[in-house]
Amino acid sequence: MKTETAILPSCAQKQQRARVLVIGGGGTGAALAYDLALRGLSVTLVEKGELTSGTTGRHHGQLHSGARYALGDRTIARECYEETLILRRIVPEAIEYNGGLFVALDEEEAELAPTFVEACRESGIPAREIEPRRACELEPAINPAIRRAVWVPDGSFDAFRVPLAFFAAARRLGAEIRPWVEVVGFERSNGRIVAAHLIDRLSQTAREERLEADFFVSATGAWAGKVGALAGVDVPITPAPGAMLAVRGRLTDRVLSRLRRASDGDILVPQRGLSIIGSTERLADNPDAVLPTEAEAEFLKRAGAELAPTFAKAEVHAVWAAARPLAGRASGEGRSISRDFAVIDHSSRDGLSGFATVIGGKATVLRAMAEKSADLVCRLLGVEASCDTARYALPSWRDFYSGGGA
Ligand SMILES: Cc1cc2nc3c(=O)[nH]c(=O)nc-3n(C[C@H](O)[C@H](O)[C@H](O)COP(=O)(O)OP(=O)(O)OC[C@H]3O[C@@H](n4cnc5c(N)ncnc54)[C@H](O)[C@@H]3O)c2cc1C
Repeated sequence: MKTETAILPSCAQKQQRARVLVIGGGGTGAALAYDLALRGLSVTLVEKGELTSGTTGRHHGQLHSGARYALGDRTIARECYEETLILRRIVPEAIEYNGGLFVALDEEEAELAPTFVEACRESGIPAREIEPRRACELEPAINPAIRRAVWVPDGSFDAFRVPLAFFAAARRLGAEIRPWVEVVGFERSNGRIVAAHLIDRLSQTAREERLEADFFVSATGAWAGKVGALAGVDVPITPAPGAMLAVRGRLTDRVLSRLRRASDGDILVPQRGLSIIGSTERLADNPDAVLPTEAEAEFLKRAGAELAPTFAKAEVHAVWAAARPLAGRASGEGRSISRDFAVIDHSSRDGLSGFATVIGGKATVLRAMAEKSADLVCRLLGVEASCDTARYALPSWRDFYSGGGA
């Protein structure tokens, strides 16, 4: 793995001018626009709302070391850890890499500790058990009744600033980033998508537009099924909303997690001056207008107080929800669907050229999702260019709105 970070050049070094339209302005689209622009392609990104207004701008903010996934899927866990190390190098100003503690609150959780540490070790994650007393010294807000504690290299990151740094980098390399522009249809010719139909909601008349490109990538998260349908392909996606609750005050500096298999209300994340407990999980047909229920809010308050008793008395700052874009279809519970991501080549799967979809994953692995997607786009376009996004420090997220990314 590369360990040094170079300065991003102000324009792409190689000039391969194939045109790509990236649909979706969440973290995945941001990282993909940057990756493709860095490989020298001509990139336009459209987002139907404000940038990061989908799931990205509303997630929990945990920079996953992968420990949460180690018991269930070592490959995902390993990838998370590797990506945290890369993000820490390329976008340090948006990350708090303070570590995390998995704590056991009952006998069943305590018994899981050795298996959990071993699963982390097998995934390449440096986890280690520490004395409960030591855990309470490190984080005085922890429930003093904890029976065991395991330190892991978790962190937290800013849901907006990380993608904005990718957007700033993409724009610095010439990518056109267009919020408030929605794809409402596609044009096909000889089994290939050749143009997208757009509505520009920033224009006074909500102007319609036709945009030609050599390739189209849907990075539309929980909306990928809808966008796939516009192109006439079936995209297996399950929108799985989850709620989070933030209280005022930073109760801990480390991420606190329950030492058990992934379930509801088991992670408390410090985010600047807030502490956020999450999440829940249910299934939905429609990712729009996802709202938390009162039952979810009550459950989360109790769950937060189990990890850190002072949570119960803290003032509630906000309760909100967002829809996970799970790659696959649920046969029962959403948690039975893998947290992995998928890049779908619609030419080999559906006989439709010039179109791919990237779904699933999580915000922590946005760069890796973009890398796999851009590899596919370049291969299908016959462009020879490898991924360099782990190499360069990203510009500041501030550059995006101050114009420095332009
Ligand atoms: C409750 C919850 C907690 C989470 N916590 C974490 C966490 O702590 N750490 C972590 O790493 N991950 C977390 N995740 C996962 C993470 O939030 C998502 O995996 C990630 O944000 C998805 O990003 P995305 O860019 O793929 O999708 P999105 O951010 O949803 O972006 C897709 C975009 O496409 C746009 N779009 C849709 N249709 C069109 C169209 N027709 N034209 C133009 N644009 C369109 C949408 O408006 C949207 O902005 C959490 C998710 C949830 C739900």
